[in-house]
Amino acid sequence: MGFNINQIRSDFPILQQQVYNKPLIYLDNGATTQKPRVVIDTVRDLQETQNSSIHRGIHYLSEQMTGRYESARETVRAFLNAASTQEIIFTSGATGSINTVAFSFGEKYVKSGDEILISEMEHHSNIVPWQMLCERKGAILKVIPFNDNGELNLEKLDELLTDKTRIVALTHASNSLATINPVKEVIRKAHARGIPVLLDGAQMVQHGEVDVRELDCDFYVFSSHKIFGPTGSGVLYGKEAMLEELPPYQGGGDMVDQVRFDGTSYNSLPFKFEAGTTNYTGAIGLAAALDYLQSIGFQAIGQYEKKLSSYTLEKLGEIQGLKIYGNAPDRISVFSFLLDGIHTYDAAMILDKMGIAVRTGTHCTQPVMDHFGIEGTIRASLVFYNTMEEVDALVIGIQRTKEMLS
Ligand code: PLP
Repeated sequence: MGFNINQIRSDFPILQQQVYNKPLIYLDNGATTQKPRVVIDTVRDLQETQNSSIHRGIHYLSEQMTGRYESARETVRAFLNAASTQEIIFTSGATGSINTVAFSFGEKYVKSGDEILISEMEHHSNIVPWQMLCERKGAILKVIPFNDNGELNLEKLDELLTDKTRIVALTHASNSLATINPVKEVIRKAHARGIPVLLDGAQMVQHGEVDVRELDCDFYVFSSHKIFGPTGSGVLYGKEAMLEELPPYQGGGDMVDQVRFDGTSYNSLPFKFEAGTTNYTGAIGLAAALDYLQSIGFQAIGQYEKKLSSYTLEKLGEIQGLKIYGNAPDRISVFSFLLDGIHTYDAAMILDKMGIAVRTGTHCTQPVMDHFGIEGTIRASLVFYNTMEEVDALVIGIQRTKEMLS
């Protein structure tokens, strides 16, 4: 299909609407992304013509739906370049995936006095499940700090990786600082000590290609709704040898082989981790989103976003009294900022009335805000359907906000 921004924008029905009689400028993609028509149609079509519970029927509809679900798994495998579909588990989202690993890995490998290593820039979803694990097991949570540019302190990493570290859980890209972390280096250092690494890709997959085999990560997680797919669905990738060793997270239908009152045996991978009726329409909708991205081309998307990102940085940089939080050179197109003397909510409310959707608050990264001693930021997060004209509108909106409030 190639990269044609007008064509791309027309693929997203929601972007065509006006709010307060102004064209919608949606810059809250870090929270959730909009859906192309093909995803909306796929999910509606499934409900209208094919709905049936998967894996449990030999009738026509069930077989059709099962086929599409398993083919969605293959689409995700290819997207991540995983070695096999056994390694792709459908979950409720990045949060569901991290909780699965924190529980299952924790049950098997973590005991009192062990250490779990995360970073200071994690989303709450990659903090709290590990804290809960530490509470259950008497383990200790350790934290890799970042500097004022929002870059991980890798020297500290060397000190923090110890014989007691059981797992490193790190975000691939930060949702509030925009930093793309040097994950390959972290993985290399952790693996040199035999420590597995989980990467939180919730903010990465929608911005660039991810190859789990090239990264050599042990687990990779992401959410469908942040990559133009339906809500309530997500992915946990895990190396097969690792997943084989882990106990299931939840019990229920489909994840079992034989169930007797005196004991139960579990299903093989990946079903061992998919208890109950899964969100099969979500998984198939996710595959439709990935196919759509593939038809545009991940490289073309990446190149466009790079230009959009440099343009945004340049334009925001020209605004007096605007301070950007997160200045790592390797970044996604997310911009957290504050306006001198202006409350974030006031600014966001004024921008909203101009049709510009941004987010304010801590972005579920309270420790990041604590690092800078601030309560929150305004965040504009862009993806490949955003335009330079929208960035210009944001800049004008910020200038007007300043005029009105100062
Ligand atoms: N990790 C990061 C870096 C995120 O930005 C988010 C959501 O904003 C999550 C995890 C959690 O994603 P979800 O709420 O879709 O499970």
